[in-house]
Amino acid sequence: MRLIVLGTVIDTDDMRQTLDRLVELVADGRARRISHQIATINADFLVHATDDPEVQNILLGASHATADGMPLVWGSRLLGVPVTERVTGADLVPEFAAVAARKQISFYFLGAAEGVAQQAADILIRDNPGLKVVGVDAPTIEAVSSRDPGILQRISDADPDVLFVAFGAPKQDKWIDQNLSQLDVPVCIGVGGTFDFITGRTTRAPVWIRRIGLEWLHRLCNEPRRLWRRYFRDLTYFPGAFFRQWRAVRYNGPAELTVSTSQAKDQITVDLDGALVQSTSDRLRAVMATTQPGSFVVIDARNLTHVDSVGLAALVDFAVAARKTGGSLVWENASTKVLAAIDAASLTRFFRHCAAPAEDLTVDQPPSVAIGHSR
Ligand code: UDP
Repeated sequence: MRLIVLGTVIDTDDMRQTLDRLVELVADGRARRISHQIATINADFLVHATDDPEVQNILLGASHATADGMPLVWGSRLLGVPVTERVTGADLVPEFAAVAARKQISFYFLGAAEGVAQQAADILIRDNPGLKVVGVDAPTIEAVSSRDPGILQRISDADPDVLFVAFGAPKQDKWIDQNLSQLDVPVCIGVGGTFDFITGRTTRAPVWIRRIGLEWLHRLCNEPRRLWRRYFRDLTYFPGAFFRQWRAVRYNGPAELTVSTSQAKDQITVDLDGALVQSTSDRLRAVMATTQPGSFVVIDARNLTHVDSVGLAALVDFAVAARKTGGSLVWENASTKVLAAIDAASLTRFFRHCAAPAEDLTVDQPPSVAIGHSR
């Protein structure tokens, strides 16, 4: 299940399901010669996304996004679509190494201070005999910012299945996004300080502290000067923002939705009649699965009575799929209530207001509100 939490997507899968998904994405990436970007999203990252449209678009376009912070776990619970388990980069990489050793999936480690990625690789190979680490690189900050082509060349020569990038969020995720089309690596994951955790350079909180959701407090006590500002901002931002989204998307009415489509050349109009919510959003996903790549999608929302966090995720995925194949997605006739839900979920910028829709797009009078994807 995928939902929107304050302008980013979160997949609710637990660790086991996440690992299965990563194995599937490696196979899919290999078969179709495409790259999937994976994000591990913590609270700080989410705040970045609200300030930076580039980060938001990257996160919304991720093939998989795990909840790597307790605020996201709490937020998903409040929104009625609970994340089963917090999946951090620091937990995911060692678990994935065990699976990769069995399934012949190769890794490449990029980033962290000189020697750290190599040491992390050595530890994972020691603990998982048979694990193939086909490359390790710790480029300098200057080499990364000057876009040294040697970095991409070395990855390309090593030809890994999975690339872990540890430049810290959101720098690593921007780097992956900017280079994805040239990388030809099936799965790329931003992993932040994970190599430092694996090598013991940074110590994690004891498991019981992680379980009760206080790992952030442990980190704050260890690095107060660097982190107090970050946590103060998070603690003051999240409660009100979660409440606002919850109030705008909560729904107890009938879960009924009819999705009908009409096609004219490369434009498909999708008429939503009823409530696009957790139990009905698969109907929209079914239409998405059969839509031609590169389509110009018009969501006619005149009969859309309600949209919740899961329904919004389906719409975001539809917009991303259209955009990635050269098409786009716009809305027509959304009610004030639906627009308020989009706004409370921090998606207004993503679905750009567009009063004068593109050619081909029929507009009803009085002028409909059309929101299109902006990038
Ligand atoms: N790092 C890097 N190159 C950079 C910036 C950071 O290799 O240009 C590394 C840094 O050495 C550390 C990792 O990125 O190993 C993650 O840093 P941080 O703990 O800030 O990331 P977070 O987990 O908070 O996203």
